[in-house]
Amino acid sequence: MSPEAAPARSLDGRTAIVTGGGRGIGRAIAVELARAGANLVLTYRENKSLADATARELRGQGAGCAVTQVDVRKGSDLDRMVEEARQTFGGVHILVNNAGMRADNLVMRLTEEAWDDVIDTNLRGTFLATRAVLRHMIRARWGRIINMTSVVGLAGNPGQANYAAAKAGILGFTRSVALEVASRNITVNAVAPGFVLTDMTAGLSEEQKAGILERIPMRRYAEPEEIAPLVAFLATDAAAYITGQVISVDGGLVMS
Ligand code: NAP
Repeated sequence: MSPEAAPARSLDGRTAIVTGGGRGIGRAIAVELARAGANLVLTYRENKSLADATARELRGQGAGCAVTQVDVRKGSDLDRMVEEARQTFGGVHILVNNAGMRADNLVMRLTEEAWDDVIDTNLRGTFLATRAVLRHMIRARWGRIINMTSVVGLAGNPGQANYAAAKAGILGFTRSVALEVASRNITVNAVAPGFVLTDMTAGLSEEQKAGILERIPMRRYAEPEEIAPLVAFLATDAAAYITGQVISVDGGLVMS
């Protein structure tokens, strides 16, 4: 009996960068992209051991995987990240702008530092990473950029004005870049999760969690693995005609 060739996967031969890919939603996205055949570049800012553990898992499943430290607020770090990805895997086809943070407070008590940190990490980071990959995607006439926004960017949330402003900014950014590069076969979309069980939401008080749960029609939080399949789909050829969109994965929390 002759050995059968493995079936082709939707992202075979593609290289994806996932910022903040070591833990939380980014980790689940990296696992899903690797399962679809992509090579991965994972970035971390502080938690090297978690990023290394995720990389080991992906390599164990047969994916190529590199890990690099990046502060998404620094353009030079992101330029280096793209150069490393190109040298290691020969190109960059998919960028998932996932790294993010929150620093909540009511506006009256919000410090300038908390404002700047959240805008710089979520919004400026998305701009800088996108700028770093675009030249290569335009040259290759193929690319997928997927930006993590949030239902908070769509509907607002008391105590999260900085985070909501950053995530809403990502929507305008997504649509503008989508218009700039649509003719080059590059799609740019945003995914808006509701409340997902990660370190980011672990710090919420029981009272806050109960209040949120009451507003979610499905009466439960999402697991990171429930966000990742949509991101992986948007990265495939099957999603070639979807661009400039924001798609929510939120158990029915925000319906427009
Ligand atoms: P998380 O568990 O807190 O992980 C955040 C990730 O971002 C980590 O990998 C972290 O790296 C990285 N990061 C933070 N600041 C960075 C910086 N300056 N430079 C580079 N990397 C940085 O968050 P998550 O819940 O998985 O969220 C992932 C994305 O989904 C974020 O954009 C978040 O806003 C969005 N989102 C989350 C939820 C939710 O309910 N969890 C809902 C909607 C949207 P280190 O590990 O090295 O610190």
